[in-house]
Amino acid sequence: MAPLAAQPVPPGVRAVSAGRTSGAEPLASAIISESAAASGGPLGIYLHIPFCEAICNYCNFNRGLFRTDTKRRYLIALAREIESARAGGPVDSVFFGGGTPSVLDPGDVRALIARCGSSFTLDPGAEVTLEANPETASRERLEGYRSAGVTRLSLGVQSFRDAELRRLGRAHTAARAIEAFESARSAGFDDISIDLMTWLPEQTVEHWAETLDVLIGLDPEHASLYLLELYPNAPLREDMARGGWAQAPDDVAAEMYLAALDRLETAGYAHYEISNVAKPGRRCRHNLKYWSDGAWVGFGCGAHSTRDGRRWRNVSETESYMARVADGVSPVAHEQVLSVDERATDTLFLGLRLTEGVDVPAVERRYGVNVWERWGGELTRCVEAGLLEDDSERLRLTRKGRLLASEVMQVFV
Ligand code: SF4
Repeated sequence: MAPLAAQPVPPGVRAVSAGRTSGAEPLASAIISESAAASGGPLGIYLHIPFCEAICNYCNFNRGLFRTDTKRRYLIALAREIESARAGGPVDSVFFGGGTPSVLDPGDVRALIARCGSSFTLDPGAEVTLEANPETASRERLEGYRSAGVTRLSLGVQSFRDAELRRLGRAHTAARAIEAFESARSAGFDDISIDLMTWLPEQTVEHWAETLDVLIGLDPEHASLYLLELYPNAPLREDMARGGWAQAPDDVAAEMYLAALDRLETAGYAHYEISNVAKPGRRCRHNLKYWSDGAWVGFGCGAHSTRDGRRWRNVSETESYMARVADGVSPVAHEQVLSVDERATDTLFLGLRLTEGVDVPAVERRYGVNVWERWGGELTRCVEAGLLEDDSERLRLTRKGRLLASEVMQVFV
């Protein structure tokens, strides 16, 4: 589960056998050609900031503890990697993800945006999102981000109940989260997303409803709802055992998810992706690229990129990333050239996350595949089981299908 909305791992990463490991390539090999940049829609840029003030007990992200000197060296590497992508093409979204990007000073953010603008053609109306944790989001800092060019703030709140935040090892309180939201509004942010988590230890349906009500009262433009995922070695597992804390049964978690969507839809939010709702016109432009066959380039340790039928990812470890870039060596750890079949599969797999579903004839035209010939048997079984609906144009998950999305997605694995 993504407490801060990290860069989604593209499904193609699973198809390791189809790829090749690029190893230590020259940094110049990461340069994106002008002709390649001219194909497809505008790019998104993802910048990974792998530092946090404290490590939460459930986190499985690519992050480490913040240190001023490491940050300084990391920002030099990041700028250098972005610079290597000169002639990078038009960009209409930039996303600072982590980790905790709000550990950066506004001047750091301004410099990175400027660097993106030197290497790419940054649309003046680009959506520039920065993930922030309430404990680092002071009024002064938020004003600095706004004037640095950040247009959208994604606040990692997770819960508006202090007991739940404490169990998760979060550094903020509910009051601090509300204060951060209000500071963001005062700083001029008119596009704010709040991340919440459900299925938390000891959380009841009523507790979850209370958190949702606080969110609705704050009236952000966007919200992301995630189910807590307990990875095998999460320290939270031990905390739960020690504290005798339990998660609600699966069927109650499903009820919480569906109840949240109903509540948010009544409050004026449209459910547009499995984990995301938005007010009209406020869907996240950057994240939509991940789900609608878009193209993006990621910079920083562990960042993924997808464009022009290629997918690549950087080394995850921060020191290795910095060392490679400092030595003029590409930080790319793995690159994969996707077959047409894989591209069509990924488009369907990710597109089904969208509430509007996938435009099947468009996928067929783009990739020259017959979707119903290729996957018809399994898709028909899902339609008959009430998990998918097909209106001959779009294929989409039903309400029941959203609860069992990972099972439906197995069709494309
Ligand atoms: S703030 Fe917590 S959950 Fe978010 S990336 Fe850092 S350690 Fe992980």
